[in-house]
Amino acid sequence: MTDLLEYPWLEATWQTLLRSDDTHHCLLLSGRAGIGKTALAVELAQHLLCEDPSGQSSCQCCPSCHLVSSSLHPDLHVLIPQALVEHSHPILQVHAQRYLESHQSTQKRKPSRQISVDSTRMLSESLLTTVVTSGRKVALIIGADGMNHNAANAMLKVLEEPTPGTRFILVSSYPYRLPATIHSRCIRLDSPTPSQESAARWIESRHDIDPDELGLLLRSGLGPLELDQIIGDKSAASICQLIRYFTASDTKAADSLSLAALCAKIGAGRALSILQSVALAVIRESVEGHSRSKSVSDGVFGNRKLAIAAFRQLGLARERFNGPVDEQLSLEDICSRLCAPRL
Ligand SMILES: [Zn+2]
Repeated sequence: MTDLLEYPWLEATWQTLLRSDDTHHCLLLSGRAGIGKTALAVELAQHLLCEDPSGQSSCQCCPSCHLVSSSLHPDLHVLIPQALVEHSHPILQVHAQRYLESHQSTQKRKPSRQISVDSTRMLSESLLTTVVTSGRKVALIIGADGMNHNAANAMLKVLEEPTPGTRFILVSSYPYRLPATIHSRCIRLDSPTPSQESAARWIESRHDIDPDELGLLLRSGLGPLELDQIIGDKSAASICQLIRYFTASDTKAADSLSLAALCAKIGAGRALSILQSVALAVIRESVEGHSRSKSVSDGVFGNRKLAIAAFRQLGLARERFNGPVDEQLSLEDICSRLCAPRL
């Protein structure tokens, strides 16, 4: 392992991957966002392409390893939604350009979170061409749930009848969104979420952070890699403010427009995900019959009934945000529902 040494919670999944090597041509790697699934997939891809892999890792010095690390390997095919490229693994950012539609980078519009049918067609056609270097081809599809029905259909033939030596690694935080036709052709491996203690130790080893702030961030439901990026970007304060608002016992009357503005500052998708995690924590605590963090149950989601209603509303809102909506109006709508006395 190379990058993965930084993420101790992935060790068990990596060992499982090594043991299951070559048993199936299509792997679906799932698990919560922000825990390092992409790093795991890149490591596996490099291991598969390496000309002299040891038992545990790629050699890092053969021509194939050099081509991967310099983002030039012709047999590493990477498909990733435009919106995920910027914060993706450095090796992937250049490899991904091969299948990104050129107009996406020239027009001033919001980067897509979907994988287009044209991109999947380009990938399928490339995979049918001759192996160039290593005798093996690896197709990495990051954010695979971004494939809509048509894009998935364009992948089916090459998934069903891959050319010899072709391996697919699909990575998804939301595997239930994948069409059944894709799901049924994959072996799925779930990477476990690190415990809060493990995530806290890892973040504390990388940042000088106030314990109270870290405690709030860990309630967000975001993975440690995502939190690491947020702390590094100095954007943790807004998230702490959001969580504090919904968990503090002395919350004042809700102001839905201020809340919508705060969510917009954080990013609608991320903010709604955080609020859903907070609501879920209240539901879990009420079901388990105890409150590990009393302040959560004292907040705006003050009881199980309100929390369940909020959880549903937030889930529906998150799904709507996957389609073409007016983000600001949609945020104001969900925030006004959350701030109403009865949901
Ligand atoms: Zn190598």
